[in-house]
Amino acid sequence: MAGRLIVISNRIPTGDPSGGLVVALHDALLARGGVWVGADPDPSEEGRECLHELGDIPYRKRAFRLSKTERQNYYSGFANSVLWPICHRRTDLIEIKSEYRADYLAVNLRLARLIAQDLAPQDVVWVHDYHFLPLAMMLRSLGVTNRIGFFLHIPFPNITDLAILPRPEDFARWLASYNLLGLQTRGDVARALEMFRADPRAEFLRDGTVKFDEHIVTVASFPIGIDCDQIEATARRADPGPFGAANPRELIIGADRLDYTKGLPHKFEAFGRLLQGRVDRDARPTLLQIASPSRADVAAYRQITNDLQAISGRINGQYSELDWQPLRFVHRSVARDRLIGLMRRAEVGLVTPLADGMNLVAKEFVAAQAPDNPGVLVLSRFAGAAEDMKGALLINPHDLDETAGAIDYALAMPLDERRKRHADCLAVVRDSRISVWTDRYLARLASCVPTLALSRHQ
Ligand code: ADP
Repeated sequence: MAGRLIVISNRIPTGDPSGGLVVALHDALLARGGVWVGADPDPSEEGRECLHELGDIPYRKRAFRLSKTERQNYYSGFANSVLWPICHRRTDLIEIKSEYRADYLAVNLRLARLIAQDLAPQDVVWVHDYHFLPLAMMLRSLGVTNRIGFFLHIPFPNITDLAILPRPEDFARWLASYNLLGLQTRGDVARALEMFRADPRAEFLRDGTVKFDEHIVTVASFPIGIDCDQIEATARRADPGPFGAANPRELIIGADRLDYTKGLPHKFEAFGRLLQGRVDRDARPTLLQIASPSRADVAAYRQITNDLQAISGRINGQYSELDWQPLRFVHRSVARDRLIGLMRRAEVGLVTPLADGMNLVAKEFVAAQAPDNPGVLVLSRFAGAAEDMKGALLINPHDLDETAGAIDYALAMPLDERRKRHADCLAVVRDSRISVWTDRYLARLASCVPTLALSRHQ
C-alpha cells in the first residue's frame, strides 16, 4: 500500500481550502493521508518549538515557526531578494548578504530534521517551490531514502544568471537530491538540462535521467492548471458588479499580484500608446487593473508601486474626459467570484509578465469566458502559459506598439475568430486541469528510480 503524502509548501491554508492548487493538494492529502507542512501563518508568533498541529481534519497540518530575523533573512532575503529575481531574470534587483544564505540553509536544515523524525519508510515527500531547494539534500544527509519530489512553480533560471548566486555550484546539487524535478514548461526543462550538461559532476543516463554523485534525478515538465469546472460554473452565475452595465463598452482587464515580474508599467504604457493612436475619438476603452498588494517589506516592491501610481496618473491626466477615466488602477485584492465575473464581462484579458512560471490568471480568463461570445486573451510570450496557448494573441510586452496593436486587434476581432481562438485556449486549459496535474506528478514520482544508498554527510 502506498505510504502517506508529506507536502511541504511555504504557506499552509488556514480554514477551508480554496484556490486551485490548495484544493488539489488538500484532495491528494485526503486520499492518501499524510501531513502538510508550511510556515506558521501568524507572523507575530516568535519561538523555536517549530512544529505544532492545526485543526483536526483527516490529515495533519503542521506549521514551523520563523523568528523575525529568519523571516527577514530566509524569506524576504534569500528566497525573495535572491532566488526570485534570479529565476525571473532580474539580476539587477538581487541583494546578496551572507546572513540571507546562512539563514536559508539553517531554516531548511531545521525543517529537514523535523520532517525526518516523523517519516515512515513508504512515505512520499512532495516539496513545493524555491523556498526549499536544499531540503532533499538535507534529508538525504540525515539518511532519508524515501521518494522526494520537487516542483518549481517559477521559471527555471538561465545558466548565466545562476552564476550570480553565492556558491552557484550548490544549485545543481540541491536539485539532484530529488528523485523528480518537476518544472512548468518544456523551456524550463531545457534550461535545467543545460545546467546539468555543463556540470562535470552530472552524467546523462540512457533513459534521459541525470546521475549526479550517487543520486538519479528525473527532470520533466508538468504545466500547472486551474480548477476549470469550478471557474466555468462561477463565471456563469457571477455578478460583475458595477461594470455589469453597458458602460464601459470596451473593458480590458488585468489582475495580478503587484510584482515587478508582471510587466505592469509596460502594460500601462502600451495602453497609453493605444489611446494615443486612437482614430475613433468616440471609442472609449477602459483598462481595469486590479493588483493585489504583495511583499511590501522588499524595497523593489515599494518602488514598483510608486512607479505605477505615477504612470497611471500621467495617462489619466492626459486622456480622461469629464465622463471617462481610461485607466483604473485598483491596488487591492478582490473577492474571487467578483474577479471571475469581471473577467467574463471583459472584452480583453491583458496578461503581460516579463517572466512567469505559468500565469494562472491567463487560464482563469479563458475559463471565465462565455463560449458563444468570448473575450480575447492578449498574452505575453514570456508567461509559461504561452508555450501551449496558441489561441491567444501572443505579444512581447517590451514592444509597446506590438501590445497596443494586439489590444486594438482584439477589440475589433470578429465573433468567428474569437470563438475559434477561445475554443483552442479552453482545450489547453481543460487538458492541464489541476486535479490531473496532481495525479500526473504523483504517478511520475512513484515510477522514479528509488534512492538506494544513503548520501554522504555534509
Ligand atoms: P502568481 O502566483 O505569481 O501571483 P498567478 O497568475 O499564477 O501569479 O496566480 C495569481 C492568482 O491570484 C490567481 O488565482 C488570480 O486569480 C489571483 N489574483 C491575482 N490578482 C488578484 C487580485 N487583485 N485580487 C484577487 N485575486 C487575485
